[in-house]
Amino acid sequence: WVKQDGRNAYRFYETSMMTDALRTLDLDGRLRQAINNDDIVMYYQPIFDLATNRIVGAEALMRWHDDKLGFISPEEFIPLAEKNGLIHRLGEIAISQACQQAARWQSIMPMKISINFSSVQFRYCDKLFSQLKQGLIASGLPANRLDIEVTESLLFSHTQEVVTLLNALRDEGVELTIDDFGTGYSALSYLQKFPFDKLKIDRSFLIDIDQNEPNRELVSAIIAMAKALNIQVVAEGVETKWHTDFLIQNGCDYGQGYYYSKPLPADVFERLLYKSRVPQSVA
Ligand code: C2E
Ligand code: MG
Ligand code: MG
Ligand code: MG
Repeated sequence: WVKQDGRNAYRFYETSMMTDALRTLDLDGRLRQAINNDDIVMYYQPIFDLATNRIVGAEALMRWHDDKLGFISPEEFIPLAEKNGLIHRLGEIAISQACQQAARWQSIMPMKISINFSSVQFRYCDKLFSQLKQGLIASGLPANRLDIEVTESLLFSHTQEVVTLLNALRDEGVELTIDDFGTGYSALSYLQKFPFDKLKIDRSFLIDIDQNEPNRELVSAIIAMAKALNIQVVAEGVETKWHTDFLIQNGCDYGQGYYYSKPLPADVFERLLYKSRVPQSVA
């Protein structure tokens, strides 16, 4: 019996590995197709100035809806694309869509657009730099309206090429943000070594913060440290009024999260932007 159970367990394991492999294979092909059919679209989550309660920018987040499988999370397809190399084409899509939209939106109100970059995209620094230049030129978006989000993992295993690229982008006027701050392995010394403008506190720190004293201390310390280094702070995953109040009290500059808005399709974001425009004063 024991043997039998053991074998069944083994079979079960084997089957689920098989299913995983098949799904990966299936997704791989579907993602390739989605890219060719222009089925990858960017959504936009507004970023607010916490103190004034005004939109200052948006984070562009990739969305893929498959006819058969429905919405597939970027948490699933981005890692897949990093493995099969499609990440470079996805990166190009993100840059071109987000820059085009943001360029249009400047006439509604001045705002920044943040784009996420995976460390894998930095394996070909020249390619990445020319994709960005191309995105800016084609859209006419001023470089200082673009904000690039990278994670700590990039800094952990960086090369001289990466440092050169980050500095080159900074020289163009592009802003640099460290995303998911506090979840990586990196040493804090990189905050001084790299030219970052902003850091984004990972939302895992906010989730239960109203009941979690150590996390409150951590968030407050991160904000204080960033201030001391002249780095602005964004909080992600702001879900409640409590979160907002806490962040404001502790000097956090910007926030994004479900309390304000979920990521929105471009047309819906645009309507929100119109509504939140500062009314022109009438003389
Ligand atoms: P991220 O860059 O840290 O993006 C923030 C994630 O938190 C987004 O998930 C967003 O929808 C979610 N979020 C924002 N506010 C809240 C909130 O109040 N509550 C909760 N529960 N979630 C919130 P999303 O869109 O699923 O993206 C997941 C990750 O996928 C991103 O994390 C980013 O690492 C990656 N990703 C998304 N789009 C791109 C892209 O265009 N390029 C690359 N390289 N990576 C991307
Ligand atoms: Mg991000
Ligand atoms: Mg993040
Ligand atoms: Mg995050």
